[in-house]
Order: sequence, then C-alpha cells, then structure tokens
Amino acid sequence: MSDKREEQVAESDRDRLGLRADCGSCFALCCVAPAFAASSDFAIDKPAGKACPNLRTDFRCGIHTRLRTSGFSGCTVYDCFGAGQKVAQVTFGGRDWRGEPRSAKQMFEVFPVMRNLHELLWYLAESLTLQAAKSVHRDLRAALDETERLTGQSPQTLLEIDVAAHRQDVNALLLRVSELVRAGVPGRKKKDHRGADLIGAKLGGAHLVGANLRGAYLIGADLRGADLRGADLIGVDFRDADLRGADLTGSIFLIQSQLDAAKGDSTTKLPASLTPPAHW
Ligand code: SF4
Repeated sequence: MSDKREEQVAESDRDRLGLRADCGSCFALCCVAPAFAASSDFAIDKPAGKACPNLRTDFRCGIHTRLRTSGFSGCTVYDCFGAGQKVAQVTFGGRDWRGEPRSAKQMFEVFPVMRNLHELLWYLAESLTLQAAKSVHRDLRAALDETERLTGQSPQTLLEIDVAAHRQDVNALLLRVSELVRAGVPGRKKKDHRGADLIGAKLGGAHLVGANLRGAYLIGADLRGADLRGADLIGVDFRDADLRGADLTGSIFLIQSQLDAAKGDSTTKLPASLTPPAHW
C-alpha cells in the first residue's frame, strides 16, 4: 500500500471513530476535569474538577488567542483524541456539567477513562495501515473493535473498566507492531532509547533510523538534522526539542500534539499525516 493510501485508510478509521477533538461539541471537560500544577506549561495551580478561571460561561477559552504568551502553552498541545465530545454527546447525551451539577463528578471521572481508550484507538487505527505489521492485523482489528465497544458503555460501566489492564494488552500489540516495522527499516544496528532520559541531549545529526524511542524524554534536546526515519516515537516528550532539519518521515506513532510542543521549521521533514505547527 502506498504511503498516501495508508494515510487515507488511517484517516477514514479515525474519522469513523471520532478521534479528532471537536471542542464545539464538548463542554470544555479538559479545562475542568484534570488538576494542573503550576509550571512552564500552566501558569496556575488548579485542582481537579474545578473550572479553569479562564473558561467562559459558553465553554470557550477566554485567552484562546494568547495561550502561549499567557503561560498556558500546555493547553495548545493537549489532545483528547475526541474523548471530550464522546463523553459530552454520547456517554452523557448532551448534558453538561453546569446544567447538571449532580452528574459533574461522574463526567469528570469518565473523561480520563475515555481519553485513554480513544488514545489506544488512535494508535490501533495507525497500526492497521502499516503493511509491515500485516501479520498482526487480525489481532489489531479485534483490539480496535473491543476498545470501540468499551467506549460505548454507560458511565458506571466505563468507571469499572480496568483501563490499565486493557492498555497493557493493547500496548503488547503495539510493541509487536513497532518491532515488525522497525525490523523492515534498512540498516542493522537500531538504537534502543526506550524511556531514556535524553533531556537537553545534544543529538544534532544523530542517526536514529528505526530507533526505539518509546516514551523517551527529549525535552529541550538538540535534534537538528537528526535522522529519525522509521523510528518508534510513541509518547516521546518533544517539548522544546529542536527538530529543525530533522527527518521524521516514516516514523510511527508520532502525533500532532508532540510536534506542536517542539521547535521546527520548513526544513523539518514530517510524516504525510502531520502538518507543521503554526508557530514553526
Ligand atoms: S487556559 Fe483556556 S484552554 Fe487552558 S484550561 Fe484554561 S480555559 Fe482551558
């Protein structure tokens, strides 16, 4: 399957599953449900279940156009994978936490469960487009169907799901996908930096083709001109990493919010499904 065709298949699965955030169909659950700790990403402390003071009564952000300059850059890189509108419109049938305060606590508890499930769906949809992982497509399809089924359950049932166990099962499959894909990338020695602390690392021009970078911390790393083709980038923390001139084509499990948190420019080569952030 061509790259373009693979991309189209992934996009249609993601559209069908509603994995793209649609803030207009949500009630700003991400601005209320989670707790924030004051940091370089969030200017304030906010307890879980309490609305951010910047949230307007119409569920829109009052500082949307100046989030970065106001110390809320974390909000610009957050992705709920469509969990917000699913909870708002499907799980709770269009009822919102302001109009129905008695359900608010349950809505806020369901939201992270749904986000976890939708995130898994996102990666499963991508995996199903990868020809190198063809041998596990049947298992991937079964995992996707089961995960989708779980997202349609009642609030109480959703809260009873052992999300960690389900995540572990799916992750085992995603690991297999990663191995299959990276084994097919030309070159022998593939670097293994899984979960590595590479904060601020000097990796300019590094050969990271087909590398395993799952969950690595590359905050502020210098990756200018690095070759990351075919690398597994799931969960990599690219905040403020410098990707100018880096080649990320053919990498797997890279999502837009990771890029949005990084630095780059017109010389950064991206997988076809992703677009350069506006601030590059
Ligand atoms: S700053 Fe805006 S986007 Fe961020 S949590 Fe507050 S209301 Fe939501």
